[in-house]
Amino acid sequence: MNLALSLDRAGRDDPGRPALGVGARVLRTYGETAGRVARLAGALQRLGLKPGDRVAIAAKNSPDYLEALYAIWHAGLAAVPANAKLHGAELGYILEQSGARVCFASAGLDGEIAPHAPQSLERLISIGSAEHERLFAADPIDVIPRGGDDLAWLFYTSGTTGRPKGAMLTHKVLAAASAAYASEVDTVLPGDPILHAAPMSHGSGLYMMAHVMNRGVNVVPESGGFEPEEIFALFRAWPRTSMFAAPTMVKRLVECPAECVSGNIRTIVYGGAPMYVEDARRALERFGPRLAQIYGQGESPMTITVLTRGKIADSDHPRWSERLASVGRPFRAIEVMVADEHDAPLPAGEAGEILCRGDTVMAGYWRNPEASAATLRGGYLHTGDVGAFDADGYLTLKDRSKDLIISGGSNVYPREVEEILLRHGRVREASVIGRPDREWGEVVVAYVVGDAPAADLDALCLAAIARFKRPKDYVFVEALPKNNYGKILKTELRAMDARRAASRVAE
Ligand code: AMP
Repeated sequence: MNLALSLDRAGRDDPGRPALGVGARVLRTYGETAGRVARLAGALQRLGLKPGDRVAIAAKNSPDYLEALYAIWHAGLAAVPANAKLHGAELGYILEQSGARVCFASAGLDGEIAPHAPQSLERLISIGSAEHERLFAADPIDVIPRGGDDLAWLFYTSGTTGRPKGAMLTHKVLAAASAAYASEVDTVLPGDPILHAAPMSHGSGLYMMAHVMNRGVNVVPESGGFEPEEIFALFRAWPRTSMFAAPTMVKRLVECPAECVSGNIRTIVYGGAPMYVEDARRALERFGPRLAQIYGQGESPMTITVLTRGKIADSDHPRWSERLASVGRPFRAIEVMVADEHDAPLPAGEAGEILCRGDTVMAGYWRNPEASAATLRGGYLHTGDVGAFDADGYLTLKDRSKDLIISGGSNVYPREVEEILLRHGRVREASVIGRPDREWGEVVVAYVVGDAPAADLDALCLAAIARFKRPKDYVFVEALPKNNYGKILKTELRAMDARRAASRVAE
């Protein structure tokens, strides 16, 4: 079933109900939104796009995001939402790899993409431009039928090779993830708002569908992003608001003056990176029993385990602290297993790779059969995360896919930064690690063998990769720790870095 049908139906059955909000006001009803989406879909069809073709969205949060996404589905096409914080060259790679024929881009971002646009891209539409506006004048079309296994969303996630891979999320996958959200994370009643302060290309955007299906309101802050004061004002303006927030965002909200918080919040869902127990406790004190945690990844979007509101708030439970440190229990519709290196299940208490199977798991990686076969071998998604179950079925993550750095909720794969640093003639070797940081979760740190000025390295990074991936610290060393095969030992490097930080504190 095509996901676009839920919006189309809401437009017919409940036309006067608010669908989209900007800041504190209602922007459009379901009737208006569905009408615009049907016309935009008509325009995409008139551009010659055929069912299954890919259309990218490289945009900051805005109501246009939802309309573009639903119009893409309405016309039977597949969406490629790309992180607006990426560098033009990185976006160019995603456009090329996905074979997108059209791309909607935020004003400003189109200029950054243009020099990197691949030949396969026929049209780059700047959101809000006269060209974009004209598309809404096309004749509306009916929803093009799509099956559950048809591609809906290509979710680009970095791989260990540093090149992003497109996780193929079908209509069935997104419908299952949305149903899991509405039944196990958060109740969504008609009229309930969801505030998109985190990128709509990722976690927050994946909650759009549950809110359309249940006729909630998708609200975008006026600033398009995360400004704590604005968020609190919107909590007051929109009763029963929910929001997805990376742990660093929750921490920033907690640090705001107590009088900012109102009782209007429905649920703050956190996930995507580890939450320190101390921070979870403080958030609970501040917001009350309105927090839920999810653990997921692009390959099983937002849906592997959930730590429910009730469990987070159950502070009288003897194992409450351990539970706060966990990522909760598997969603009901998904099988989760902790396995040894032969994919055999391990008993509670033993750590191994987390595998899962169910309707929320991707169909594979786009145009990458080797990576698909390896990641989905034996019918299970191999998450690359290491964890252990306790006797009650709570899963605790022990480590992340080894060396992945999560800074401020965004993923940074060391290799992509290392490759840039190694472009400098005076860098012999480079190894990038995450250093624990109270504010960002982790910050990117580069260990460098060579004598390149740090300013040069910064400039190289700024020219090629997103700002959030740039090292916050460069440490110049004589040699990097290596094993007998000459492979750099990152675990040892992280330990060295911790010792270095400890000796600095002691000074
Ligand atoms: P992404 O594919 O960008 O959503 O990143 C997914 C990765 O983020 C997972 O494989 C985990 O390593 C990490 N992650 C997601 N949720 C959590 C969580 N609740 N706690 C700790 N790490 C998480």
